Amino acid sequence: MKHSKGNIHNIETFGTFDGPGIRYVLFLQGCPFKCGFCHNRDSWSTKTNSLMSVDDVMQDYANYEAFYKKGGITVSGGEPLMQASFVYDLFKTAKNKHIHTTLDTSAACYNPKNNAIIKDVLSQTDLVLLDIKHIDKQAHQTLTGSSNHHVLAFLDLLEALNIKTIIRHVLIPTINDDEQSILSLQNHLKHYHTIEKVEVLPYHTNGKHKWTDLGLDYPLEGIPPMEKSVAMAVEKRLNQNLPLHQTLSSVQKDYA
Ligand code: SF4
Repeated sequence: MKHSKGNIHNIETFGTFDGPGIRYVLFLQGCPFKCGFCHNRDSWSTKTNSLMSVDDVMQDYANYEAFYKKGGITVSGGEPLMQASFVYDLFKTAKNKHIHTTLDTSAACYNPKNNAIIKDVLSQTDLVLLDIKHIDKQAHQTLTGSSNHHVLAFLDLLEALNIKTIIRHVLIPTINDDEQSILSLQNHLKHYHTIEKVEVLPYHTNGKHKWTDLGLDYPLEGIPPMEKSVAMAVEKRLNQNLPLHQTLSSVQKDYA
């Protein structure tokens, strides 16, 4: 069968961060979000970067297969669902070889009214890492240039299809680390049985140079990196899923 080709941004052959075990991580080119904190600013463009067929990817994967016993393949971005047909072909081929598949997405291009191909991708996906940038719609719009409506709709789809999900949330000083934002996120997530855990990632400025290299101003200039201890405290809280009054007192203690 003829497969589509993927427009590849980058490949990590020894990934330990994006899914279980050691993984082959394929970063696809193109993203419709415009996150002010993006550490892969050069991945936004949909211009052709490097084209690979499913066979190309599987042959490359085979070069390192011995390392991936408890890992598998992760497709990330940019936004991988912009190239959903390619991801479907790749994941289908991987599943036929009993390779674990992880989709790392911000669901930036999800459309509930036209989701047949997305459902196809999910039928071949073992685990989804879903980024939620901000739970507040307006703040999400300001931070990413788009509403979070489709992101939360995608989470509903994951729940309906019972797809194993890990939520990822970059915690950014003065942007989404306030009490109301954390509480709203916690209250939203506690209804989803398909969420295995929430990972809170401390905001860092390691990708700032990519903006500079492209001759662009860095949108979050002046905002310091998030302290790891604060991110860990918020992560603990989001995973505890405590009733409201207990949650409030625990986070106040953690911040004290
Ligand atoms: S979704 Fe990811 S790749 Fe896209 S702009 Fe945001 S941080 Fe960057």
